[in-house]
Amino acid sequence: MRLTGVLLVMVLVHVALVSHGMLAAGIGPALASMGVQCVAIAAVMARRGRDPKPLHMPWLLLAVAASLQVAWAAINVLATVLKDQGGYLSAIGVVCSALYMIPAMLLLVRAHGRSEPTPVRLLDLVMSCLVGVMLYVLITRAIPGDSPGNISVIIWHADAIDFSMAFMAILRMLGARGLRLRFLFFASASYLLVNAMVAAIYNRIELQGLPTWITLMVDLPYVALTLVVVRRPPRLLRRWRPSMRTSQTIAFFAPIMLSIGVLLLGINVSRVAFAPGVAVAAASVIFYGLRVAFIQHQHLDLQRAAQLDNESLQHQVGRDPLTGIANRTTMDARLREALQSSCEGRLPCSLLMIDIDYFKQFNDRHGHLAGDACLVSVARALTTSLFRSGDLVARYGGEEFAVVLADTGHDAADAIAQRLILAVERLHIPHEGSPQGRLSVSIGVATQRKGMRTEAVDLIDAADRALYRAKSLGRNRYEVADDADTAPRDLA
Ligand code: GH3
Ligand code: MG
Ligand code: MG
Repeated sequence: MRLTGVLLVMVLVHVALVSHGMLAAGIGPALASMGVQCVAIAAVMARRGRDPKPLHMPWLLLAVAASLQVAWAAINVLATVLKDQGGYLSAIGVVCSALYMIPAMLLLVRAHGRSEPTPVRLLDLVMSCLVGVMLYVLITRAIPGDSPGNISVIIWHADAIDFSMAFMAILRMLGARGLRLRFLFFASASYLLVNAMVAAIYNRIELQGLPTWITLMVDLPYVALTLVVVRRPPRLLRRWRPSMRTSQTIAFFAPIMLSIGVLLLGINVSRVAFAPGVAVAAASVIFYGLRVAFIQHQHLDLQRAAQLDNESLQHQVGRDPLTGIANRTTMDARLREALQSSCEGRLPCSLLMIDIDYFKQFNDRHGHLAGDACLVSVARALTTSLFRSGDLVARYGGEEFAVVLADTGHDAADAIAQRLILAVERLHIPHEGSPQGRLSVSIGVATQRKGMRTEAVDLIDAADRALYRAKSLGRNRYEVADDADTAPRDLA
């Protein structure tokens, strides 16, 4: 609100100075006009402070673009006061008038908020600089002739650049999915569009000699910018949200616009300055090609990283987070697969269900964290006691584990069960709640009946019953399931 007040005062001062026809040289009105411009810059910077970090750079670019216009105006005032005889100040002024395009172009081309490779950022900077350089060459080469034809070439080029930038800002506004970014481009579009219209009118009137009121027009883009920036985004802007596809297409389209612009400028400039024009036209094509190559490279890297993430996710999905061994889902799949292969004529499949003895007492005495560490140790002991790559140890749930032994008959399964009991015993984990005084496990062993089709649930059930028997017979032992237990349910 305060900035709007200051803006109003500045504009009124400007109007008053102009209407009193004060200072024929126009220093007073020019200073008032610079005051209006400074208010707009302050408004942009205040807005920048309210937005999150990724938007700080684009707001700054907008402020720098406006500041370069102020610098241009200041140099013109200085040239008037110092009676710039060598024409040096005017030359610097011309540079400044072209320079404002660099931050403006960067603002319109860069993908704000999304990280881009450094070479792409550099290429954008170089391309934006080329626009400024081309305009500078055009102005400096055409002015010596000073014929109306030459001047009008410059005006048309300046119009083309100004309106293209305004068009790009509108396009970026329509393509921005976030409201803050949309608002940033709305403010930029308001400024650039009014600026383009004012410049187009101003330059044409200037050819016939400037009336005093004309400097008031220069305030308009800054008045528009300030009024937009200090207010909330309009409702239409808040409602508009482009689809992801539209947004991406526009974001990819912006750099093409810049390249085409530089190419056309280069071709046109080649008429007054052949070598620089052609060089810039060629550079625009090469740089665009490089830009695409770098972006493609980044996409390939991202794709590769996503693939790795996906693989690691897939890996984690089948794992038990505490012990890192397979979980029940993986075990079920492996068991079904092993049963299927044994149906196809190989050796039978065996399953061990393993349960830690008196684990509740262990937890009660040592706490759950020690219980967790104990589960990890048991899982490791079980895993390292199996030597075939086809065997799978899984955490079935709680303090229960399961071992799938593909192509393993009765005898081998018994031997493995014995080995696992010993492996846990050898951990020597003290357990005062157990008659042995140390941690132990009980195991139920079930083996598929030869040549019989057995369902996974039947084998699990049989191993579970055997485990129950091992528990009731004193624990720290294994029991083998009866044949009847593993008999298929659907014998028919
Ligand atoms: P049994 O010898 O009959 O198997 O007796 P138990 O105490 O081992 O069996 P019970 O089923 O009574 O208790 C199992 C205990 O396992 C209870 C629960 O607190 C513990 N438990 C299950 N999952 C976890 C776990 O992830 N971490 C820890 N620390 N304890 C667990
Ligand atoms: Mg249990
Ligand atoms: Mg138990």
